[in-house]
Amino acid sequence: MTIEHVFVIGAGQMGGGIAQVCAQAGYQVTLHDLSEEAYDRGFKVITKNLERNVEKGRMTEEEKETVLGRFTKSTDMQNAKNADIVIEAAVENMAIKSKIFAELDEITPEHTILATNTSSLPITEIGAATKRPGKVIGMHFMNPVPVMKLVEVIRGLATDDDVYQAVEDMTKKLNKTPVEVNDAPGFVANRVLMPMINEAIFTLYEGVATKEAIDDVMKMGMNHPMGPLQLADFIGLDTCLYIMETLYEGFGDSKYRPCPLLRKYVKAGWYGKKTGRGFYIYE
Ligand code: NAD
Repeated sequence: MTIEHVFVIGAGQMGGGIAQVCAQAGYQVTLHDLSEEAYDRGFKVITKNLERNVEKGRMTEEEKETVLGRFTKSTDMQNAKNADIVIEAAVENMAIKSKIFAELDEITPEHTILATNTSSLPITEIGAATKRPGKVIGMHFMNPVPVMKLVEVIRGLATDDDVYQAVEDMTKKLNKTPVEVNDAPGFVANRVLMPMINEAIFTLYEGVATKEAIDDVMKMGMNHPMGPLQLADFIGLDTCLYIMETLYEGFGDSKYRPCPLLRKYVKAGWYGKKTGRGFYIYE
């Protein structure tokens, strides 16, 4: 399976990062979003990241231009017709992802691998929205993508072995470390991480300590580089809520119920760093 052309859906914090590392690894990248504004916002972040690399002597100006030259802008899903692999990084919502995958199934050639960067949604169910569940796979990058080494590679019930192998090989080519995981709500990363973040929010909600104190305890006491409330702001509180809902629904266990304070912040549009306000305020 030869992969040359990558179609990335969503130019947000994850899709932009995925597109960047793919272009840096030499792939032709079409970056797709709903509007030109969303694309331009994402492409601006990528350009800034690469400029910082030049300033720090990690790449030359010429290399930066070569990487940027591998990008094609898209606001039309039909542009996926030449893709060898699609990596979807739109919002964490099953109805939206199922619709995207059903559409991709119609547009892309038979050989195209359809990967999702979902944080928690069942790969098997996303695969069932297509007529090629063997070619559907999870490729869960960590945030920020250019920095973090891990990619959880998730097999759906029907994922073919050669598709798994091709994605594992591609992950290594991106200079990342693949870890094989089976399909279950939250996979490994968010099954373990998100209940801790949710519990930190409960701790704040119940007035046990201030947000700064909660984050300090986990940073200094557990040696975490970032406190759970700050990390939630960085991930996006909307994404955190979607993941908790997926765990709650997927396991039917009350220990995964999302904290009412998390729901309240999301209803207020306080999504964290990306909207300028979450548990903390960002200038
Ligand atoms: P984001 O809100 O920063 O970006 C989402 C982007 O997708 C936006 O630009 C939006 O315009 C676009 N979009 C929405 N619907 C679309 C559609 N139908 N077609 C094309 N584009 C569409 O979100 P994010 O943090 O980048 O998360 C994206 C995905 O990655 C989610 O599934 C999330 O769970 C997953 N993820 C997030 C993190 C994290 O730390 N934020 C980590 C791993 C995985």
